[in-house]
Amino acid sequence: MPSSSRVFFQSSRVLVSTFQNIKGTFDILPDAYTDDGGTRIASSAEWHHVESVIRDVMARFNLEEIRTPIFEPTALIARGVGQLTDIVSKEMFAFERGDTQYVLRPEVTAPVMRAYLQHHLEQRGGVQKLFYIGPCFRAEQPQKGRYRQFHQFGSELLGTDDPRADAETIALMMAVYRALGIQNMELRLNTLGSAGTRDSYRTALRDYLAPYADELSDTSRRRLERNPLRILDTKRAHEQKILQEAPRILDFVSDDARAHYATVKTYLDDLDVSYTEDPFLVRGLDYYTHTTFELTSDALGAQSALAGGGRYDLLAEEVGSPRPVPAIGFAAGMERLFLALDAAGIDLPGAAAPDVFIAALGDAAERWVFSTVQDLRAAGLHVALDLKGRSLKAQMKEANRQNAPYTLIIGGNELADEAAQVKEMASGEQVEVAFDKLTDYLLARTGNAA
Ligand code: AMP
Repeated sequence: MPSSSRVFFQSSRVLVSTFQNIKGTFDILPDAYTDDGGTRIASSAEWHHVESVIRDVMARFNLEEIRTPIFEPTALIARGVGQLTDIVSKEMFAFERGDTQYVLRPEVTAPVMRAYLQHHLEQRGGVQKLFYIGPCFRAEQPQKGRYRQFHQFGSELLGTDDPRADAETIALMMAVYRALGIQNMELRLNTLGSAGTRDSYRTALRDYLAPYADELSDTSRRRLERNPLRILDTKRAHEQKILQEAPRILDFVSDDARAHYATVKTYLDDLDVSYTEDPFLVRGLDYYTHTTFELTSDALGAQSALAGGGRYDLLAEEVGSPRPVPAIGFAAGMERLFLALDAAGIDLPGAAAPDVFIAALGDAAERWVFSTVQDLRAAGLHVALDLKGRSLKAQMKEANRQNAPYTLIIGGNELADEAAQVKEMASGEQVEVAFDKLTDYLLARTGNAA
């Protein structure tokens, strides 16, 4: 929508509120705007467009949507992600009612696994191929591209350990970005091996890093005890140097797991998906095994991760399943996707303009217009009208602002003649249409006819 709505607000008395949205959250408005940090926040129409492209790609890959609650018992998330991993210690939004502790979900994989087990989705047969889009919450320090309430979309393929599921997940993730026109991304790939690999590697890494403890940052020193694999993510040059000689997880991976990884790579090669192998890509969560991947874009600055994911064959048992459920998924940030679209200069379609704006002059016309508008809408037209009793001039200004291709002005004469003057705004052409032909005429002219 044009920015004239802002001009309109400025010219009248500006309203204010004592309240502001919470830091690290943002409002999605009918118009795009720039927030205090200089980030463009896309309009609700742009969000819809991106979501519909995501849904379309998901459908083409034969995935079905799952929606889980925004909050879950803390135990699901804390157990699911491992007590000591960063996602929990970085604090989630938690609250208590009665004896139960809840958290706002920081991610959707554990909730999806809960729902899969709870509703026995395995009984539907075959592989469950699910996707989601929705808000997630993390109590992080907000910065560009990093929010406390953000939105993730992602997929979960549950009930298969076939390496094709890994390759298909990566292909699906890439297809979403490709469908939106984003290029120049880097896909990094690694394997974490099977269940025991992570434990032996953790010990080896801790042993290797222990003599360097004094040289590590406070954060890394803390991680050395709790979760040394996270140190591999470090952005600090001197730590990266220390890590150069560190043991590599691939040296701890079994032959079977190596074969799985090799097959995934073969399928990606067949699909011409290019990737870089990164032996330090381990992801924060303990339930990951085998394939792990991350998609980044240089265009995003410090928060360069667009999406990430991997195989999580150990999660089901962590949340109480009597047997393993092999599964793989990815999760992607919507806000980062919008940053990438901005950086690439990709324009998205805005809101659809109304098909027709109907201005009324006088009380009798207002009454007629009010009920006629409902009939036109029931017939499928997108119709706008004034709900403020404004002057004809103000109504016509509003019709222009809303970019309606057709406008009608209904006054006493039109009511008497039972015919409306329909103006096509682009050409300025005006034709008289009898009231009883109005619906069909407008449907035909606006391309809404059945
Ligand atoms: P993760 O589960 O941490 O790998 O997150 C998956 C994706 O979600 C990341 O690659 C980001 O694109 C996005 N993401 C994670 N945390 C945030 C956040 N605090 N704000 C915005 N996007 C985020």
